[in-house]
Amino acid sequence: MIYDIAIKGVEIITEKTNEFYNIGILGDKISYIGQEEINGTKILNGINHIAVPGMVNAHTHAAMTLLRSYADDMVLMDWLENKIWPVEALMTKDDIYWGTMLAVVEMLKSGTTAFADMYADMDKVAEVVEETGMRASLSRGLIGTVPDADKKLQENIQLFKDWNGKANGRISVMMGPHAPYTCPPSYLKKVIAAAGNLGSEIHMHLAETEGEVNNCLKETGLTPIALMDKLGMFEIGTLAAHCVHVTDDDMKIIAKKHVRVVHNPQSNLKLASGIAPIPAMLEKGITVALGTDGTSSNNNLDMLEEARLAAFIHKNQTNDPTVIPATTAFKMATSNGAKALGFDSLGQIKVGLKADIVLYDMNKPYWYPRYDRTSLFIYAANASDADTVLIDGKIVMEKGELLTIDIEKVYAEANKCALRLTK
Ligand SMILES: [Zn+2]
Repeated sequence: MIYDIAIKGVEIITEKTNEFYNIGILGDKISYIGQEEINGTKILNGINHIAVPGMVNAHTHAAMTLLRSYADDMVLMDWLENKIWPVEALMTKDDIYWGTMLAVVEMLKSGTTAFADMYADMDKVAEVVEETGMRASLSRGLIGTVPDADKKLQENIQLFKDWNGKANGRISVMMGPHAPYTCPPSYLKKVIAAAGNLGSEIHMHLAETEGEVNNCLKETGLTPIALMDKLGMFEIGTLAAHCVHVTDDDMKIIAKKHVRVVHNPQSNLKLASGIAPIPAMLEKGITVALGTDGTSSNNNLDMLEEARLAAFIHKNQTNDPTVIPATTAFKMATSNGAKALGFDSLGQIKVGLKADIVLYDMNKPYWYPRYDRTSLFIYAANASDADTVLIDGKIVMEKGELLTIDIEKVYAEANKCALRLTK
C-alpha cells in the first residue's frame, strides 16, 4: 500500500507517552495511524513535530483584517457606527478578496484550517477559500433595516446556490442575519423562511452586550434567545456568536434546540462586552466552539490565544482552576468547532476522518519536557509553531512555506486596499 501522503515519526496530541506514529493519507482522508512502517508518494518527516487537528475559527469576519488597528479602544455602537460601518460601506469586491486572503495567510500560519465567516461580497470569500485550499462556512451578513435588505437576502440565497458543498465539500453556506439590533423580527421571519426552503442553517450574533438584551426586552418583551426561539430560528440550526448575556432559561433553550455557541473571549474582553457563562453552558451539554471575531475587535486570528484565554478567564470567573481544563479548551478549538460549523467528519486525528492536520515544530524550549502534550499545546505553545498544514488531504503549507498563496503579493495588495479605504 502506497499512501498519497505518509507522515513519519510524528507525535500525536492526545498521547501522553513518548511514542511516535506514522500517519497515512489517501485522498482527503486519514487512512492509517500506527507504528508500522508505511510508504507514501509524498513523505513528510514528522520527527520532533506533533500532529494536531486543524483548529476551527467558528466566528470571524475575515476581510476585517483591512481594519486591523484602525479604530481601537471604543464602545461597540460608537465603534461600529462612526468608524467601522462608514469604511465598510466603501469596500469593493477587490478589498474583500485581498482582506480575506490576508486573513487566510494568518489562519494557515497559526494552525487554523477552517473558519465561519460573515461579511459582504461573500462570493469573493468563496473564491479565496477555493483557491487557497481552506475550509469554510460562509454567510452573507444581513442587515434588515437598510433599504436594500431584501436584495442582500437574495445575495445570501444565491451564495448558497452557487457555493454550498463546493470545492469537494470544503465550502458550506449559512444565512447571516447580523444581530437582533440590526434585524427586526419581520425581516428575520423572511431569513428563516428562506433558510428553511434551502435547507441552510443560520449564523448570527446573539446576546453580545447587555444593551442589546435590554433593548430587545424593551421592544419585544423577550430576550434575544427567547425571541429567536419564538421566531422558529432554532428549528433549522443556528451558530450563535457570543451569547455573553444569557439567562438560565436562555441556556435551557440553547441546550434543548442544539444551538451551537461560539465563545469569542478576546473580542468580548476588548470591547468590554462581558464574560459568557461558558462553564454553565458546557455543563448543560451545549456545544461551545471558539472564535476570534473580526480582526478589528480582536486584532489577530490566533485561535491558540483564544483557547488559552478561554481556560484562564473562566478559571478566574469561577474561582476554580479545574474549570475548562486544557483538554476542554482543546476540544473547543478543534472538534467542537468542526461540529459547530456542521463539518462532522473532521476535528480529530482519527482514521476515516478528513485529513485536516497541522504539524507543529516542537523544537522549541517551551515544548520541553513533555509530560502532557495537550497541556503544552494549550498553555505553552505558540501558534506560529505551525509548520506544515494539510487540508482535505492536500498540503497547503510545508515547512512554513504557503504553497497556494503568493504571500508578498497578499501583503502588498491588502495594504494598498487599506490605505485607499481609510485615506
Ligand atoms: Zn462578529
